Amino acid sequence: MEHGFDTKSVHVTRKKEEGVPTKVTPIHQTSAFTFKNLEDIERFYSGEREYLYTRVGNPNTDELGNAVANLEAAPAGIATSSGLSAILVGILSIAKTDDHILASEDLYGGTYELLANELTSFGIEVSFVSFESDIESEIKDNTVLLYTESITNPLLRVENLEQVTQIAKKHQIKTMIDNTFATPYLVQPYSLGVNLVVHSATKYLGGHSDITAGVLVGDEDLVTKAKTKCVNFGTNLSPFEAWLTVRGLKTLSVRMERHVQNAAKLASALAKHPAVDKVYFPEYVSEKGNGAIVTIDITNNGIVETFFESLDWIKIVATLAGVETTVSYPIGTSHRNLPKESQQALGITKGLVRISVGIEDIEDIIHTLINALNNAKK
Ligand code: PLP
Repeated sequence: MEHGFDTKSVHVTRKKEEGVPTKVTPIHQTSAFTFKNLEDIERFYSGEREYLYTRVGNPNTDELGNAVANLEAAPAGIATSSGLSAILVGILSIAKTDDHILASEDLYGGTYELLANELTSFGIEVSFVSFESDIESEIKDNTVLLYTESITNPLLRVENLEQVTQIAKKHQIKTMIDNTFATPYLVQPYSLGVNLVVHSATKYLGGHSDITAGVLVGDEDLVTKAKTKCVNFGTNLSPFEAWLTVRGLKTLSVRMERHVQNAAKLASALAKHPAVDKVYFPEYVSEKGNGAIVTIDITNNGIVETFFESLDWIKIVATLAGVETTVSYPIGTSHRNLPKESQQALGITKGLVRISVGIEDIEDIIHTLINALNNAKK
């Protein structure tokens, strides 16, 4: 019988370790693996034995790649040094010089910078368009990839993945989705026909704000190509960080369950506050919930500076998705380098605040944020 998502999540370690029967996979904190003789080296290259050198592969990083592939219902996966390096090697497994990528205009700022400033210098053409518009008319003869996020950062637009994959299939092009905000707990894009799914595992997969890691899962041929890029660019993940991320994965379901419950309650509480111009919170992501980020716009009352000074135990950070509630300021950090016109057109205003809702008591979260709004002055 196929196990449920929660069982799979807790039992992410699928490989039996030889030797000492540890309950948890040991950390293979080694830069290299030893060989008995020259024949043994050849056995590595013919695929009869595993592991040569940690940049090329390590049991802990393999465990993480396979675990997330399993949760995303994808056939293959790799772990990388960061979310951004997973995006890089994933894209380069599909796009080369003179190819065109059609990307959503509302992406994480770092992804925008990678596409706009770096991949273009490899001779890859990139267009940023609203994925709510007629994207089919933007497809060119050299378009090879549609790139977007399942829930966008920071405005939380929920992508219509069925429509995106349908258009891509019609034009025989590939799709790649950043599933960081949704996690496989809420959305499994590969099951909807997406070719590559990427995560900043730094966020919910790790869950405890103590690692920087990325995961790429999807079609076997593309993941194999991406793995080669990862080896050649040296964007491997360290064994210890892979181990910590696997440890985090085991509680993904229970953390997400609380995160999404808290976020829904916070979104309705903030919507009632007179200083809040707008609450961004998805109407529907999945039957399990609508994500755990709540973004608010408090521009009109001119209180943003003092709001950030009134947060008591809630910390200001340039990240999200830890067990603690935190706030971030997209226009000052993650989306700082987006062109001014794009910031304006998208709604990344001077009063936009992204709240990563933690797993604390919801009464404490609501109380502290409402107090911060009440205490914030012009
Ligand atoms: N994708 C999304 C949606 C993000 O929010 C981030 C980082 O904030 C990344 C990718 C990049 O991940 P990393 O910082 O792990 O490289």
